[in-house]
Amino acid sequence: MIPIALPLIGQEEADAARAVVLSGWLSQGPQVAAFESEFAAEVGAAHACAVSNCTTALHLALLAVGVKPEGEVITVSHSFIAGPNAIRHAGAEPVFVDIEADGHNINPSRIARAITDRTQAILCVHQMGMPCDLGAILHIAREHGLPVIEDAACAIGSQIRIDNRWHKIGRPQGDVVCFSFHPRKVLTTGEGGMLTTDNADHDRFFRLARQHGMSVPDAVRHASPQVIFEDYAVNGFNYRMTDMQAAIGREQLRRLPEIMSRRRCLALRYRVQLGLVRGVHAPTEPEWARSNWQSYPVRLDPHLDQRRIMQHMLDQGVATRRGIMCAHREPAYADHELRHPLPYSEAAQRHTILLPLYPQMTDEIQQQVIAALRDAVAAEDQVRHATEVMRA
Ligand SMILES: *Cc1c(COP(=O)(O)O)cnc(C)c1O
Repeated sequence: MIPIALPLIGQEEADAARAVVLSGWLSQGPQVAAFESEFAAEVGAAHACAVSNCTTALHLALLAVGVKPEGEVITVSHSFIAGPNAIRHAGAEPVFVDIEADGHNINPSRIARAITDRTQAILCVHQMGMPCDLGAILHIAREHGLPVIEDAACAIGSQIRIDNRWHKIGRPQGDVVCFSFHPRKVLTTGEGGMLTTDNADHDRFFRLARQHGMSVPDAVRHASPQVIFEDYAVNGFNYRMTDMQAAIGREQLRRLPEIMSRRRCLALRYRVQLGLVRGVHAPTEPEWARSNWQSYPVRLDPHLDQRRIMQHMLDQGVATRRGIMCAHREPAYADHELRHPLPYSEAAQRHTILLPLYPQMTDEIQQQVIAALRDAVAAEDQVRHATEVMRA
């Protein structure tokens, strides 16, 4: 079976985690601190704060920029449900706007008309690692004095050109950027998240809120020759990353250049070869964006049945996934009042499939995937032809 994804992880990570276990300090400590400074340096941010996952990162980011009960946050429905959920955890309500016709990212021109006097922030997503149009989003945000949070769960290694310069995703263009280290993402620590910001006040809040609002972290008290009594200034959470995870994360970060070049090479080959499969459309990069290709989403012509194509490929030993979900279509959002139509979001969910892409994928395996897709499309064309004959 060819899997949809496979993390590139091995002996180095296992050794690093083992060393932490044997060190006797397991929770947030020196490894987390080192991972944070290496991550900040990698993306070009002033501060990086590690947390338990990207969902908790999003929650803290929303609180830091001032999202409060009764407020609204403009975002997409066409994303993983963690984003809208984090908005609700902050007591606010998501206001969903549609994506662009030919991609999976928020349509900036939809944002301005969704702003009300309750809007408190914009939460944009670099979907599947493809940078969203931050230039246009920041322009609107500044006009209306709104903070911008980037959901970069999938986007470590991606780049965007702003004001004629290339920047790594994670160098904050708005206020805060949130990353995930779930195994389905490009770098993994099993579970884990990271917040980057250039705002020292936000960073201070993240560090307090992630461990119960504790004024002096336990690791600092442990290492101090003086007796320290901590206090608890805010109602915090336990959103800590462990030192085992951080040690794994540091090794993962070292692999990033290798992972990126392999992923981009595989994506380029998909693009060339899929040009020859009728009814299937490869994704495109805007000239101001470089994706890490966390996922490889292909768009099917409407006459190709998504589920049958996926089943046909699975029967040939190739795992795929359907297009990104739409949160507003899930029971958890049945009580949500949709203000803006989302035709492109719904079409993207219905007509997209994700193909396997991971660094260890050989050229031969990739050929098998392409052959299975070609075969599945041919079978669909036959079904259609037969139905047309019967109708005639
Ligand atoms: C995976 C993902 C998340 C959630 O990340 P976790 O670390 O699993 O909490 C949030 N947003 C997007 C866009 C994602 O893809």
